[in-house]
Amino acid sequence: MTSENNSIAIVGAGFSGAVIGRELAEAGYKIEIFEARDHIAGNCHTERDNETGVMVHKYGPHIFHTADQEVWEYINRYAEMMPYKNRVKAIYKGNVYSLPINLHTINQFFGKTLSPSEAKSWIESQADLSIENPKTFEEQALRFVGKDLYEAFFKGYTEKQWGLHPSELPASILKRLPVRFNYDDNYFNHPYQGMPKHGYTEIVTKILKHENITVHLSTPFDPSERENYKHTFWSGPLDAFFNYKHGRLGYRTLDFKRSTQDGDAQGNAVINYTEESIPYTRITEHKHFAPWEDHDKTVIYHEHSRSCEEDDIPYYPIRLAGEVEILETYEKAADSINDVTFVGRLGTYRYLDMDVTIREALDAAKKFLKN
Ligand code: UDP
Repeated sequence: MTSENNSIAIVGAGFSGAVIGRELAEAGYKIEIFEARDHIAGNCHTERDNETGVMVHKYGPHIFHTADQEVWEYINRYAEMMPYKNRVKAIYKGNVYSLPINLHTINQFFGKTLSPSEAKSWIESQADLSIENPKTFEEQALRFVGKDLYEAFFKGYTEKQWGLHPSELPASILKRLPVRFNYDDNYFNHPYQGMPKHGYTEIVTKILKHENITVHLSTPFDPSERENYKHTFWSGPLDAFFNYKHGRLGYRTLDFKRSTQDGDAQGNAVINYTEESIPYTRITEHKHFAPWEDHDKTVIYHEHSRSCEEDDIPYYPIRLAGEVEILETYEKAADSINDVTFVGRLGTYRYLDMDVTIREALDAAKKFLKN
């Protein structure tokens, strides 16, 4: 192991680690990246399904969207981004609906032909306007869409996704989703959206392709090894760095049940199953994430969410009151360590979209170089 004082250790080869590594490599630092898994790109990892040839998002669907022009330009330097709009459907009690909730959903669900302004008035008549300051997911939903739409589209799905009643979850989770009074069924509001033509792993491969970067796969990094480096960027779990001494931060993990068939299974990339009685949250059909490709066979994944145990892959930080308390203890401990910067979804225990991850990684690199 190298001990020159311009060498930097980076733990994790997802977007955080790769982007920081590249920025510092270009500034002349020698970068050693340690990745515990046997592949790069973290949970954005994509690969070709052997049987069908379809590019699959191994850890669930990732659609790139952003309002950050610099991040959009950054990703386009390393990828050919294909035009892609995420259009999600929901199946509830034998009917198919348009998501996110838009004028089509409202008219389908209530069997009406409302105009935008009529729909607004109609939803206001459904909404519980007595809730002035919604704090929980449930209050937020009742306040903005009312009981019927809440129960059809949010309650069951959210209970399956989080393993908790929506009255125990923060309103911020629902604030991710828009409600629209027009027929726009684009799942995201951001001006830039697309899919990398050759998948996310290829992007990360290109970011990492620099003479000053060495990547060690299947190589966990012990925090004590950092004494060999000028600085360490840690994008692994925050609590793992401290060997869980203040307890474990809770996550949800996902199980994907894979199956294949001929032709087209569901005609869309993502269909949510919003009823609680159906055990999975959604079915993803990955060839529809790459509509510019042609495949005779198709591969689908039934997605199941459950509590993350010790050997599982963490996906969604839960961030309930108990976790926030533990988190603060870890954050204080992290602040007192000067030779490590904690980055990314796991390193900061926040649910980050890819664009925010890249933005924060660029900023972390800039800050380091300035100091
Ligand atoms: N959600 C829901 N019904 C849906 C889709 C989402 O109730 O059909 C809720 C669910 O609690 C989810 C949250 O809205 O965690 C945010 O949804 P998003 O699609 O952003 O979830 P993610 O991209 O994290 O899977």
